[in-house]
Amino acid sequence: MSNVPVAVVTGSNKGIGFAIVQALCKQFQGDVYLTARDPGRGQEAVAKLQGEGLRALFHQLDIDDLQSIRSFRDFLKEKYGGLNVLVNNAGIAFKVHDTAPFAVQAEVTLKTNFFGTRNVCTELLPLVKPYGKVVNVSSMVSCSALRGCSQELQQKFRSDTITEDELVELMTKFVEDTKKGVHGKEGWPNTAYGVSKIGVTVLSRIQARMLNEKRKGDHILLNACCPGWVRTDMAGPKATKSPEEGAETPVYLALLPSDADGPHGQFVSEKIVRAW
Ligand code: NAP
Repeated sequence: MSNVPVAVVTGSNKGIGFAIVQALCKQFQGDVYLTARDPGRGQEAVAKLQGEGLRALFHQLDIDDLQSIRSFRDFLKEKYGGLNVLVNNAGIAFKVHDTAPFAVQAEVTLKTNFFGTRNVCTELLPLVKPYGKVVNVSSMVSCSALRGCSQELQQKFRSDTITEDELVELMTKFVEDTKKGVHGKEGWPNTAYGVSKIGVTVLSRIQARMLNEKRKGDHILLNACCPGWVRTDMAGPKATKSPEEGAETPVYLALLPSDADGPHGQFVSEKIVRAW
């Protein structure tokens, strides 16, 4: 088994994830895994980095596929006995003008952004080594979507005692409410992406709390963040930041020094802790 530190970035064949891998290849002392659901696109991205003189390793990972997550988990366990840095970056967003029914957009978006990210966490968090860092890429949109929720929902999402099961129940209810056409009446905002990212931010707060309760001595720091508005296939060419600039906050959180005791359980943008 290798003792080399290892960093993993999900959905990193392009966009912000690719830029995070690029930065980690330069700054992280250890093996950096570029992962992608499609091996062809992943290998191509690794080759692109190689062309820049950077060495990333590749492993297939589709966060929608539990089997893919578990085979990656087993690989990390066997080869490294765990991992040191996990960046949950993979995500999707329907375009504003997409004509797919809202209920379909809700189900598909939540499946990847919330349930897929949660499944990765369920399988990989127990493997994160002491002094490890976990970064869940959320979005500022989670904050505006939260403000668009009913007072009752806002209170639940801001609660310091909400459990992961309760959060899963709420995210499932959102999808069901959209199917019944009652999501507005039930206090949800009109954004599937926004609700999925509320899920990611709240999940991060819960996971940080669980680490405090169950693994306090391990000094693991876990946060949610927003990369900013970034020129990628998701956000388009009009966005204000380059992918490299978008990677800055996630990379800062992934490389917090080992003597740092925070941020932890926070929502961070521009390297600043924001109120939730
Ligand atoms: P992007 O260019 O569309 O890249 C998304 C990446 O996620 C791609 O590599 C994609 O792979 C991957 N992915 C999607 N579904 C996946 C799955 N099931 N399993 C594994 N990988 C999957 O988007 P981006 O702008 O870089 O976004 C990265 C993250 O930042 C997302 O979580 C996004 O919500 C967040 N974010 C972006 C912005 C922005 O302005 N761009 C702002 C706030 C937050 P394929 O190539 O196979 O599709």
